[in-house]
Amino acid sequence: MRCRKCNKNYKSGAHYCEHCGAMTAEGDFALAMTDFATATKNLARATVKIGKTSITEIKPSIDSAIEQASKAAKEMKIVTKPAAQKAFEAATTALQLAAQAAEDAATKLRKVSKSQ
Ligand SMILES: [Zn+2]
Repeated sequence: MRCRKCNKNYKSGAHYCEHCGAMTAEGDFALAMTDFATATKNLARATVKIGKTSITEIKPSIDSAIEQASKAAKEMKIVTKPAAQKAFEAATTALQLAAQAAEDAATKLRKVSKSQ
């Protein structure tokens, strides 16, 4: 992999360039994945607050979000910039889908509690 700053080759998978210390594309990606994991965790926590019944509905969505994220991470190993871009987009879409599922489940729960 070629460094974006000094244009020298750095060890594949390194988060920082060994020549100039700049963050590499892999470093950027690792940070994004950490953010993604945190967002997913927060979403799961929010789901627990909504109620136990919603968990079973939301869990597959979160699982698939995580699966997509890890697929993206694997893709990153044979990395080029456009691939990284794609991976980011896939991770974001997955999280949005999980959030939407959580929202839908919450709406359903609200309806159920109103009719009781
Ligand atoms: Zn460098």
